[in-house]
Amino acid sequence: MKICVLVKDVPDAAVQKRIDPGTMRLDRSGENTLNPFDTHAIEAAMQLKEGGELQVDEIVAVTMGTDTAARALQKAVALGADRSVHLSDASLAGSDVCATGLALAKVLESESPDLVLLGQQSDDGECYTIGAVVADHLKMPSLTQVIDMKVDGDKIRCERQAEYGYDTVALALPAVISVGDAINEPRYPSLKAIMGAKKKPLDSKSAGDVGIDAGQVGEAGSQTTVLALNDPPQKEAGEIIEDEDTAETVEKIVAWLEERKLI
Ligand SMILES: Cc1cc2nc3c(=O)[nH]c(=O)nc-3n(C[C@H](O)[C@H](O)[C@H](O)COP(=O)(O)OP(=O)(O)OC[C@H]3O[C@@H](n4cnc5c(N)ncnc54)[C@H](O)[C@@H]3O)c2cc1C
Repeated sequence: MKICVLVKDVPDAAVQKRIDPGTMRLDRSGENTLNPFDTHAIEAAMQLKEGGELQVDEIVAVTMGTDTAARALQKAVALGADRSVHLSDASLAGSDVCATGLALAKVLESESPDLVLLGQQSDDGECYTIGAVVADHLKMPSLTQVIDMKVDGDKIRCERQAEYGYDTVALALPAVISVGDAINEPRYPSLKAIMGAKKKPLDSKSAGDVGIDAGQVGEAGSQTTVLALNDPPQKEAGEIIEDEDTAETVEKIVAWLEERKLI
């Protein structure tokens, strides 16, 4: 079987994110990295392959993004993917969630995977929705926030984290599963794997290569428009209570908490 893992190139968390006021889009020209949530999806694919209960023939990392996204693919390969596919095309610029999901689904259609894995969220957009959009286009069942996967005959038995507890769901393949970050502890790539990653096949595709019509993606194919972007409100300075007399300090802290109905 073939597992495709969706991975995204995102701005490094340590770098201040910048918005291009002209396009209202994230300025992606700075330091980028593999979306940390996607390392859990790669690790989940590796554990299925190494577990031996499923015959996993290959793990393919798939991304949509500009030229720099190739580095995220290299990291994904260093973490265990056998090869990677990079969808990059000027017509994709300005794609919202629906257009991005459609574009990724078109790449996946050309790969015919038995299982699609992805992270729970991207570290920049944080929409948590790509899995559902992709599954809808592929007409595959979809599960989100999966924190445990076990092979159960011809199905995958998943534990899914919800607000009220856990769902246990048996899922028939092919399927799309987005994994929560509690599912595993991603491995570190070995030096050998990092060095070898550049030699693994990277297949670059244009929109036309996977049958994407330019009107379906980019700004033309997007159903949302960003109208305004604002900085978060400045945080108010905190109140410092000096501990000169401990009993008095405790009283002050309790009064402060009561005033805000926190106790
Ligand atoms: C009006 C508008 C214009 C936009 N223009 C651009 C633009 O020009 N360029 C741009 O890069 N973004 C653009 N975006 C953002 C883009 O739509 C989102 O990045 C995309 O929809 C994915 O959403 P998310 O990152 O929040 O994914 P989430 O749903 O939070 O991500 C879940 C998982 O989906 C997978 N995933 C998400 N995105 C990708 C990807 N690109 N490739 C592979 N796997 C992926 C990852 O596994 C990730 O963990 C725009 C958004 C809007 C609303």
